[in-house]
Amino acid sequence: MTATTSTPGDLDRRRVFHPFSIPGAHERDGGPAMIVSGSGSTLTAADGRTYLDAMAGLWCVNVGYGHPKVAEAIHRQAVKLPYYHSFSSMATDQPALLADKIIELTGDLGMSKVFFGSSGSDANDTQVKLVWHYNNLLGRPQKKKIIARHRGYHGVTVASASLTGLPAMHAQFDLPLPQVRHVTPPYSLWERRPGEDDAAFSARLAAELDALIVAEGPDTVAAFIAEPVQAAGGVLPPPEGYFPAIQAVLRKHDVLMIADEVVSGFGRLGGWFGSHVLGIEPDLMTIAKGVTSAYVPLSGVVVSEHVWKVLSGDGGVFQHGYTYSSHPLAAAAALANLEVVEEEGLVAQVSARGDHLRARLNEALGDHPLVGEVRGLGLVAAVEFVAERGEQPKRFDPSLAVAARITRACLERGMITRALPAADTISFSPPFTIAEQEIDQIVAIAREAVDSVADALAREKA
Ligand code: PMP
Repeated sequence: MTATTSTPGDLDRRRVFHPFSIPGAHERDGGPAMIVSGSGSTLTAADGRTYLDAMAGLWCVNVGYGHPKVAEAIHRQAVKLPYYHSFSSMATDQPALLADKIIELTGDLGMSKVFFGSSGSDANDTQVKLVWHYNNLLGRPQKKKIIARHRGYHGVTVASASLTGLPAMHAQFDLPLPQVRHVTPPYSLWERRPGEDDAAFSARLAAELDALIVAEGPDTVAAFIAEPVQAAGGVLPPPEGYFPAIQAVLRKHDVLMIADEVVSGFGRLGGWFGSHVLGIEPDLMTIAKGVTSAYVPLSGVVVSEHVWKVLSGDGGVFQHGYTYSSHPLAAAAALANLEVVEEEGLVAQVSARGDHLRARLNEALGDHPLVGEVRGLGLVAAVEFVAERGEQPKRFDPSLAVAARITRACLERGMITRALPAADTISFSPPFTIAEQEIDQIVAIAREAVDSVADALAREKA
């Protein structure tokens, strides 16, 4: 068969090397669907089937698919000036306007500058280099270690994948880098001890961090990185008081706080940034995804004024930057996207829709024999499956792949969710523009899918 008579599906199997997929299996069987268009929260596949996208792509299409305002801004900028670089102090207008807008949205967090990239991963690599450069400039070349959390997701490039706290993402690549350490995440279902309230749980996790920094030597620890709500690692909202307790430890040891706002930034948690919602006082923030609603790739590192003061000292040329740093077309898309979020009141809508989603999930699945926990914050939620509920729940045998089976059952019924296999969890992170009836549909399909897998598991056991 020649390329001209092949369908895109054939070509995909034959020619595309897919991320986070089993290469041989994909080449043999292909994927479940080829998506050809999208509108609002609905995707259409090549075979004409439609899917409700409960994940907004990968936690990112916040204004929904096909928003004309963002599309028109991209078109206008492509015609006017699709690209020019920002090396050697060259500049274009859209990134300047966008950086100013982002700093405005960070409000009282003390932010000052934005360094642009294209992906969350490259931005977190920039974070590592900034933190190392910062300590070199301060004459503390030994203060370089970075502490992240187990189950954290910070990307896949060499430094970012090292920060990511998922062992499956290290094994194939001899990671993590030797400068990286991981601590226990605030994962209530499995890490909270019987009788421990939010304050005691937070204090224990902060004490673990303190002990690690002391054991490593505070003069060797440069930064701590955390997602406000761990997303891909299981959707884990922290207990009340967690970040204030953690930040007290960081301040004591002069360790910088990096808030990875790639998922939480620009409204996902019901405030402009997760740092606002959870009382984080970051020295550095990572942004991506929601800044453009993923219409065009764009990421950034947001730098606080006090870190900037050090970085802008006499270090010569900053020897870092991407061809696509400060990309004018991406910045134009971001400005239009943020205007949509503001004009349509979508941050407030996140809170309302999020409350609705969690309430419906709790009604439909909270007491289900397979469900260990329904959790979430803002418009991100998850359902975790367990073999035994109760005070001391038991996990399913991972080989049963319960969450993955439920995700497939959802897909067969026309709804896209995501299995977070490290946690036997399915996640929900729909567009901010989703209608209440669409949320009801998502939850009804999830319930049917969970019931069907519960029946199948019971049959297999019998
Ligand atoms: N940080 C967080 C919190 C993320 O969720 C992700 C992606 N899911 C990344 C970083 C990496 O972003 P990218 O895939 O754009 O490299």
